[in-house]
Amino acid sequence: GNTLPRPRRRRVLTVANQKGGVGKTTSAVNLAAALAVHGLRTLVIDLDPQGNASTALNVEHRSGTPSVYEVLLGEVSLAEAAAVSEQSPNLLCVPATIDLAGSEIELVSMSSRETRLKEALSAEAFDELQVDYVFIDCPPSLGLLTVNAMVAAQEVLIPIQCEYYALEGLGQLLSNIELVQQHLNPTLAVSTILLTMYDGRTKLADQVTQEVRNHFGEVVLKTVIPRSVKVSEAPGYGQTVLAYDPGSRGAMSYMDAAKEVAERGAEQGVRGELS
Ligand code: ADP
Ligand code: MG
Repeated sequence: GNTLPRPRRRRVLTVANQKGGVGKTTSAVNLAAALAVHGLRTLVIDLDPQGNASTALNVEHRSGTPSVYEVLLGEVSLAEAAAVSEQSPNLLCVPATIDLAGSEIELVSMSSRETRLKEALSAEAFDELQVDYVFIDCPPSLGLLTVNAMVAAQEVLIPIQCEYYALEGLGQLLSNIELVQQHLNPTLAVSTILLTMYDGRTKLADQVTQEVRNHFGEVVLKTVIPRSVKVSEAPGYGQTVLAYDPGSRGAMSYMDAAKEVAERGAEQGVRGELS
């Protein structure tokens, strides 16, 4: 296939939306897999105690496995916790185990509680891992794990489900991003919005798409991810949809979305404000 440009500097994207079930994990693993197909080395950091990204990439994540939890504690390096997926040697994952479940509370009393992931994403870690892209898959909350992800990243990618109440809660997400910009990470930008689970048979999906494009303009990817059974089946086989059914509409739309992400680069992006 055609090649995608390697970013001039490695890009770290936080995939965030405090709503559950909007396609954060699906988008993180499939965008990462699509970039890996193009030879771009990509790391997924699973920051959700549910471990769905680890499951989708079929990476060991039983309790006790070196994971993002030990990374946050400073016990292991990111490179030590990173596992190569069986799907591609270019696709790596730092898994989340159930041990992460208590960390929102454990972190509260720790020093530099907001910057622990950023510290782990050090120059040495990048030298060891040799990755071009990092996707951080956030839990469905705006707690300290998501704050760690926003502090560690340059970019936020927000998946929005083409459903009722799609924009609900976005104001809160954006004001949290603004707070992080003001206090912890001034260069953070919402670089990418991805519309997911689009159902072309419904008028509603088009209305949501229009509303999101009116609000956010350029930041919204042209590619929209369709609702597709293949996409939802893939994790059950420990695969991304790109491996599970590469010719499917879901797989091809994630390839297109990844191409857009790679081609527009890190330059573009808006600040946290809604308008
Ligand atoms: P989140 O990480 O935001 O909670 P997920 O990525 O886990 O959301 O997606 C929620 C559910 O919707 C999962 O069961 C997933 O398989 C399914 N899903 C995600 N994207 C699609 C899609 N494009 N088509 C069909 N099902 C999808
Ligand atoms: Mg998830």
